[in-house]
Amino acid sequence: MTTRQAESIRSPSDPLRLLPGIGETRARELAEAGVETVLDLLLHLPFRYEDRTRLLPIRDVTGDGRPVTVHGQVLSANLVRTRRPGFTIFEALIDDGSGTLRLVFFNQAYLGNWVRPGIEIFAYGEPVLGGSRRRGLVMENPQIEADTKDSDDLSAGRVVPIYRKLPGLPPRTRRKLVSHVLDSLEGKLPERLPEWVRAKFHLPPLLDSLREAHFPGSRGADPDPVPWEERRSPHLTRLILEEFLEFQISLAQRRQARESIRGPVLVASDETRSLLKSVLPFPLTGAQKRVIREIGQDFRSGRPMRRLLQGDVGSGKTIVSVLSAVLAARCGYQSALMAPTEILAEQHAGNIFRLLSGSQIRPALLTGRIKGRARSALLGALAAGEIDFLIGTHALLERPVEWKSLGLAVIDEQHRFGVAQRSVLTSRVLESGEHPHLLVLSATPIPRSLALTLYGDLDVSVLDEKPPGRSPIQTRVVPESERGRILEEIVEEVALGGQAYVVVPLIEESDHIEARAVEKHAEELRQAMKGLRIGVVHGRLSAEERESTMAAFARGQLDVLAATTVIEVGVDVPNASFLVVENAERFGLAQLHQLRGRVGRGDRPSKCVFLFGPNATGEARGRLAVLARTEDGFKVAEEDLQRRGPGDMLGTRQSGIPLFRVGDIVRDGKWIRAASETAREIVSRGEDGPLAVPCFIRAIAPAAE
Ligand code: ADP
Ligand code: MG
Repeated sequence: MTTRQAESIRSPSDPLRLLPGIGETRARELAEAGVETVLDLLLHLPFRYEDRTRLLPIRDVTGDGRPVTVHGQVLSANLVRTRRPGFTIFEALIDDGSGTLRLVFFNQAYLGNWVRPGIEIFAYGEPVLGGSRRRGLVMENPQIEADTKDSDDLSAGRVVPIYRKLPGLPPRTRRKLVSHVLDSLEGKLPERLPEWVRAKFHLPPLLDSLREAHFPGSRGADPDPVPWEERRSPHLTRLILEEFLEFQISLAQRRQARESIRGPVLVASDETRSLLKSVLPFPLTGAQKRVIREIGQDFRSGRPMRRLLQGDVGSGKTIVSVLSAVLAARCGYQSALMAPTEILAEQHAGNIFRLLSGSQIRPALLTGRIKGRARSALLGALAAGEIDFLIGTHALLERPVEWKSLGLAVIDEQHRFGVAQRSVLTSRVLESGEHPHLLVLSATPIPRSLALTLYGDLDVSVLDEKPPGRSPIQTRVVPESERGRILEEIVEEVALGGQAYVVVPLIEESDHIEARAVEKHAEELRQAMKGLRIGVVHGRLSAEERESTMAAFARGQLDVLAATTVIEVGVDVPNASFLVVENAERFGLAQLHQLRGRVGRGDRPSKCVFLFGPNATGEARGRLAVLARTEDGFKVAEEDLQRRGPGDMLGTRQSGIPLFRVGDIVRDGKWIRAASETAREIVSRGEDGPLAVPCFIRAIAPAAE
């Protein structure tokens, strides 16, 4: 490597093309794999290390199944005949002076091109006694590398990084390139973290950390891959924290920007206070009171509220938003409540119309179903300020919807909406220059680390107490071969005055197929439970049909409701006390927990049965067992996150989760929390300049606002 080449790299954002040996083609291949800059290359950290400082003499190799590295000279190497067509075995015998070891490679005949008697190689793998061909100690399919002593001082006798493959970069080339980049960047990575942050978390300089990540021991210390493998190296902390900080800085800046914009000041007069009391159909829980106080503080602050209200299904989030809307109306502002489905919007509207019937507050419902004259009359009334509280679906976001004075936007079941939709509402700045308050309701409780990432610019309130009089739900996970017995239990439950939901498997292909599946299933249920009144709801029915069936179920005129997951969100029938989910293994935990929230809403003791099909894996059953163990949505969410990762858990790829390259939302929750606090402090001290230029993070779906 010449000095001239090393000079050509000036900054971490330089393209890979500047590197020796990277031509147009390779650069293009790498770019397709997401590696465009020299920093990209460095941030693809090794996923493990091979410790070649402690090579095991072959004499000491045992077949205890643990991976080891050996080093020896190839004595013989040849292709072994096999009877299976298209199947090859390549064998090499190596000798290190202490003994010999057989290496066996399946379907890697091409190794014959360079693994020849006389050369020296490293082999890393798990020696086993006998192996598939039953002759002494062997290593099957080890990773091997030629030891060409002269040139490669990056592997011989060192801890060697092992990477996930990148196109066009074989391991040795890759190591050389990475080492070259590290050398070239010496002195060219300006420190982005304030001194007090580095001191607080004992963080080494970035370049040192990158170097140690790739070549442990480079900085003179004992080369030891263990801290890396156990994820407790201070150098790894540096990389993770810097990455998380970069993201949290952008959120903290957004928070700070809000400090300088105005929101409607909403304060309750005595008269309003008594109106609020009269609207309440029940005493509030302690948690509801606390959350209302938190919201009240935001309303008085003169700044627009940005608050996430997390509460398990049935924790009573709706009333919190209704009281907020009443207060807004009394102060002369309109409110919006946006729900993800028509059923839910209609149900909210039904409840809210009832609650507000004795008051002067004027609610209305807007969904895609309201068309023509009715729609234009409603929009006119909204623009004229004759509607105080508009409840609806995403129809609320559509263009012709004009508000006179939108002061509060409430979004129910936030994870169903993209972040962009949230901002459509809050960007409606009032003529007075005031920005509407935002309250986001979420019934998928998410762990704090994830909340800080997804909603890091929001304040968080938690409803962690259920309204009184709820009885616990008995949950069982049962093979579907026992369905008959479960259906008998439903018959008994109905005889005792209860009602049941049966949720049928979700079929993604089309509404049409799904509808048929539900109808067919309902027919089977009718056969199995003769005499029970069974209704069906699915996405293919017209809203009227769906609504009348749901209403009949709510009134107790149906005993069993066979449904797709349209019932998942929000539907409230307190007398329903039995829930069966077919093929539960096809659902995520968070979704099943939501479904379970349909029962246990009244005072009947409730039961929930998750049936799994014959093809459910052990993993899937283990997942379901979590639900039998706990009814706490936060615990369920934590498990779901651990098992499926954030993208699947939230069921959407566009949910605003940044693509972290070093840090891992699940594994590194602790550092997300540290980064969130630290970012706020950095921004408040005005030291956020350097971190505001993205370096680690490339793709971020727009976050809140
Ligand atoms: P979620 O948080 O799932 O949206 P809801 O707001 O739909 O919950 O409330 C669930 C049920 O509990 C509703 O029937 C609601 O009327 C009732 N509820 C809410 N708060 C209370 C309370 N403090 N006391 C009694 N019942 C309540
Ligand atoms: Mg709700």
